[in-house]
Amino acid sequence: FPNSPLFKQWGEGLSEAQQKKAQDLFQKFGYNVYLSDQLPSNRTVLDTRDSRCLQKTYSSQLPSLSVIHIFMDEALSVIQQVITSIINRTPSRMLKEIILVDDFSSNGELKAPLNEKIKFYNRKYAGLLKIIRHTKRKGLAQSRNTGWEAATADVVAVLDAHIEVNIGWAEPILARIQEDRTVIVSPVFDNIRFDTFELQKYALAVDGFNWELRCRYDSLPQSWIGLHDATAPVKIPSIMGILAADRLFLGEMGALDGEMLVYGGENVELSLRVWQCGGKIEVLPCSRIAHLERHHKPYALDLNVALKRNALRAAEIWMDEYKDMVYLAWNVPPENSGMDYGDISSRKALREKLKCKNFDWYLKNVYPLLKPIHSIVGYGRMKNTLDDSICLDQGPIPGNTPIVFSCHTYSPQNVYYHLMGEFYVGALIAETNTEDRCLTDPGKGETPTLEPCSKAAKNGLHIYWDFKLGGAIVNRATKRCLELQKDVSGTYVPVLQTCTTQVWKIQHTIRNWGS
Ligand code: UDP
Ligand code: MN
Repeated sequence: FPNSPLFKQWGEGLSEAQQKKAQDLFQKFGYNVYLSDQLPSNRTVLDTRDSRCLQKTYSSQLPSLSVIHIFMDEALSVIQQVITSIINRTPSRMLKEIILVDDFSSNGELKAPLNEKIKFYNRKYAGLLKIIRHTKRKGLAQSRNTGWEAATADVVAVLDAHIEVNIGWAEPILARIQEDRTVIVSPVFDNIRFDTFELQKYALAVDGFNWELRCRYDSLPQSWIGLHDATAPVKIPSIMGILAADRLFLGEMGALDGEMLVYGGENVELSLRVWQCGGKIEVLPCSRIAHLERHHKPYALDLNVALKRNALRAAEIWMDEYKDMVYLAWNVPPENSGMDYGDISSRKALREKLKCKNFDWYLKNVYPLLKPIHSIVGYGRMKNTLDDSICLDQGPIPGNTPIVFSCHTYSPQNVYYHLMGEFYVGALIAETNTEDRCLTDPGKGETPTLEPCSKAAKNGLHIYWDFKLGGAIVNRATKRCLELQKDVSGTYVPVLQTCTTQVWKIQHTIRNWGS
């Protein structure tokens, strides 16, 4: 399987039949089940904590803990490994229960064989394990809620099942929540490689998200660096999904939004809710969990469908006048989008009941990195009337030469036209530290470029264009037009030239601009 990512760094010495078996398992699960089935479930892993964490001491009177693992078609060996790591690396006097939530898996291994394993553990550790099985697929938010509803300890840790907790992971969480019940905490994530199962240490980072509400890592805030304490909690805008919380406080906050479907967005929705309604979110540097980033997901081929829907749902509930930014980032029309984000009335009622602050407060006080833009008047695909099967496109990365290419639905073809005259090309960024790229007339040559907007403006490049829907795109300074020309191979390329009669259209307009 020369093209399989499974065998890039693994698989030396396997027979053809073994390779086939490994590849089939990999296709099904998105990770190396063939290898996982051979690993001891009590393997030792690298202690990835900062050395100063080892000097920390914790009260012997910490709150009790329910650990919840949700899963959907996971390998049995991976589930055994997580249970073992929890039992071996959590002080037993605090570990009240481990709750498994099966979101309607189809994998036969997870039926009777898993029940047998649970019985085995429960003989050894009286009644420690519980399992709840959904009788239909409910998605990750509802799975986490199911676990939370069944939990009985003071604190809940809501985790995936393809993880391995590291030494001392629980104490910092329990101590911090004991100190302040309104903090939702995240551990630091390391990675378990999907192919070799090696633990890969990740640097401490801030969990954040972009305007698509897709999660990503941001850099550490200066205020935290200034503390010179590698063990101090870091305030973060968002959780990534995995979380620990005071069980009752999480309930008072409304747990997870069970109407978030399949995957994604539920983490940002909870995060906005927690911050806006009086809680906080922190990552605890001394609590480390290795999470297996799957190569692909067993439950969805294209996660974007769920991510987009759930992002719009979160935006509609929490983001007030800034929700347009999410529509812009996902290239969804501002009105009559036809997107069904479900009924949000009960979540809006919760927002009222908890007397929550608005999103403007969140932006200013929690996540100033996100920089909303109010000047966009047209967005979406840009097409020249010469050929409406091709769209303006940011072109190869790295590189700064825009092209035209067969139209598709991905963000490299997003274009944003501003009232002032700039065209952003490519995925919307709209952040304080990173610039969007503007369509630029460099003043010489016939090739347009994409340049970081304010840098281009400072360097005297020309980024302002006159454009009306169905009209020409004319550079205000050079008076040249953005037009298409066929190159030697007969393919259209964007050029800057004396205006002929070419005209362009942009997919969506805001508030009747240009009509
Ligand atoms: N999950 C679920 N039901 C679903 C989709 C996902 O219970 O319909 C669970 C999944 O088994 C996993 C968790 O949600 O434990 C997070 O999903 P995943 O690990 O695929 O996402 P990632 O951690 O890679 O973001
Ligand atoms: Mn996961």
